[in-house]
Amino acid sequence: MDTLQDLRKTQNAPRDRLGRELRDLRISVTERCNFRCVYCMPKEVFGKDYPFLDRAEILNFEEIARIARIFREVGVEKIRLTGGEPLVRRNIEQLIEMLARIPGLDLTLTTNGSLLKRKARALRDAGLKRVTVSLDSLDDAVFRRMNDVDFPVTRVLEGIEEAAAAGLAPVKINTVVKRGENEDSILPMARYFRGSGHILRFIEYMDVGHTNGWRMDDVVTAREIIATIHAEMPLEPADPNYRGEVAERWRYKDGSGEIGVIASVTRAFCRNCTRIRLSTEGRLYTCLFATTGRDLRALLRGGASDAEIRDQVAVLWSARADRYSEIRTSHTAKLQKIEMSYIGG
Ligand code: SAM
Ligand code: SF4
Ligand code: SF4
Repeated sequence: MDTLQDLRKTQNAPRDRLGRELRDLRISVTERCNFRCVYCMPKEVFGKDYPFLDRAEILNFEEIARIARIFREVGVEKIRLTGGEPLVRRNIEQLIEMLARIPGLDLTLTTNGSLLKRKARALRDAGLKRVTVSLDSLDDAVFRRMNDVDFPVTRVLEGIEEAAAAGLAPVKINTVVKRGENEDSILPMARYFRGSGHILRFIEYMDVGHTNGWRMDDVVTAREIIATIHAEMPLEPADPNYRGEVAERWRYKDGSGEIGVIASVTRAFCRNCTRIRLSTEGRLYTCLFATTGRDLRALLRGGASDAEIRDQVAVLWSARADRYSEIRTSHTAKLQKIEMSYIGG
């Protein structure tokens, strides 16, 4: 089987109850992180005594690669490695090498950029094609306060340049905007990355997990973000690159590039959501805001065949009706949802 079309014909890619295909898999390769971003892993919760998973509990590389192959067979086209911080997982290059051998797969990774300067070339050599780097401010004091481990912004900027030089391009830059933390960073970020060849995307602050104390008032809306930039550097809407693209594209009217906004809160895109998530210990979640997941590790370690696992995945996906962001209320925001560092951002 060579092409995705061939696969689709033979495998009958599953659709969920809202008619959505399964196309993207996000794999959390570790729930650990060297940052303590205030909106993701607040220090008060993820402190020294936090009970992170033991080594035996987390999926090993062979298990992850096997799951990836099975998902490819049911039609997944894109895999994103995430976490936690994926680059703190030891020998991550070996996993990338294994995944890069799967035909027809678009393989990418989201990182906080702290280890990228050192690792970019090894990642590229292992077969990675692109990276997304999270960066919330260019102001060193603001950045250090948001990562809450006093990490300097220059090291992330060097990582971004090293990634681009290594050919992991275009580099996408993700900026989460939280009111009272970094809305003053919107314009400096836009100015800095305009014309750089890197693609800057602003993300609305979300109520993932249940430890970040999310309130609607803390969300700086995509509309506000665009208006702020437009007032100084006029923008116009651009067409999506493909159907179901989550980032709305805006281009500078003077032709100096484009930015994206991901309006997960104010303009939910659940109807196009083709994503599934695999947690560090091998649980499958059909929504970022899920409260329960399906234990694939038990199947893997219990001797299930590829066909059996494939069937379980298809059954799980076919039963899916998730559309959390479309039905979010102040009540749902308080539910005991899975943490983003565990489920994979
Ligand atoms: N550690 C890596 C990083 O920061 O890029 C990968 C994992 S992180 C959970 C993935 C993405 O989720 C990051 O871009 C981060 O900014 C975003 N994120 C985390 N918590 C968020 C929240 N409450 N709302 C919106 N985005 C969030
Ligand atoms: Fe770590 Fe990424 Fe979460 Fe920040 S957003 S705490 S870097 S996992
Ligand atoms: Fe997909 Fe769930 Fe996010 Fe909606 S809320 S876009 S269904 S992950």
